[in-house]
Amino acid sequence: MGLKKALQKRMHKAKLAGSIVKDSLVVNVKRPLKKRRFYANELKAVVVDMDGTIFRTDSSLEALNLMFPEKIRDSTAGELIYRKMINSIIEGTMSIDEAMIKGTALLKNRGFSITDIKTVFEKVKPYLRTELIESLKEIQKEKNAKIILATFSSKKFGEMLEDYLFESIGFRFDSIIGSEMEFNEEGKVIHLIKVVGMESREVEGKKIISKFDALQELLKEKNWEFNLNQILFITDGYGDIELIKKMPSILITNKENPDLIQTVSTRLRMADFIVKDDEKVKEQIHKIIFG
Ligand SMILES: [Mg+2]
Repeated sequence: MGLKKALQKRMHKAKLAGSIVKDSLVVNVKRPLKKRRFYANELKAVVVDMDGTIFRTDSSLEALNLMFPEKIRDSTAGELIYRKMINSIIEGTMSIDEAMIKGTALLKNRGFSITDIKTVFEKVKPYLRTELIESLKEIQKEKNAKIILATFSSKKFGEMLEDYLFESIGFRFDSIIGSEMEFNEEGKVIHLIKVVGMESREVEGKKIISKFDALQELLKEKNWEFNLNQILFITDGYGDIELIKKMPSILITNKENPDLIQTVSTRLRMADFIVKDDEKVKEQIHKIIFG
């Protein structure tokens, strides 16, 4: 389906103010008018998204798959739940934050535990963008820049990833931003303590902090006095429009299955840099940072 047709279809379906599609279009139209905001020699930190960026897949999809394995036609129930949520997000009838809270509640009801998180990690491990990790390691070492993982997903999962990366290639993040869950003695999820989402607000009695506000908090807490032009944000775009608007960004495009937002972002050059997902991710990022 052509981009225009796909857009029309989605817009027609959405018709709702505040939907991501509408939002991204507003940004896209404005973005090219702005001046270049990034100066590589002033780089102080790299903020990197996890699902779809560090991994070529989404850990919440794998978690739902694991906990809802019942086959319905050709899919698992988990996959259907996931697809339905993504569609609701794109159509504007559900926010990413609501989906996160709902998804966690569904997992919790199935007794989701730390052991399950480990299983999910093993499942997504083959989808690691190794070249991107090597890139981050190089930037941390050569530019002395802080590398911050920022995810809507579980911080615990981010820590598991970090342990694995440290064991395998000696790389550690300087900090991790992510949603936090409380576990009981058996290691089962009780509830969400902190939700990192798109917008700071309260949803169904749960406090949500946006990725951007969580980042601001972290900088303050660590006494890292960086301005936004000194921070580079790397993402696959999905759900990260607010951050792309606010700081220099690299959009990694998903070659096999780009979603609508990615397609729009790429065509209209929403991010400052577009990195194509192929064998040369490290080379492409190196060029942006080191010239
Ligand atoms: Mg992502």
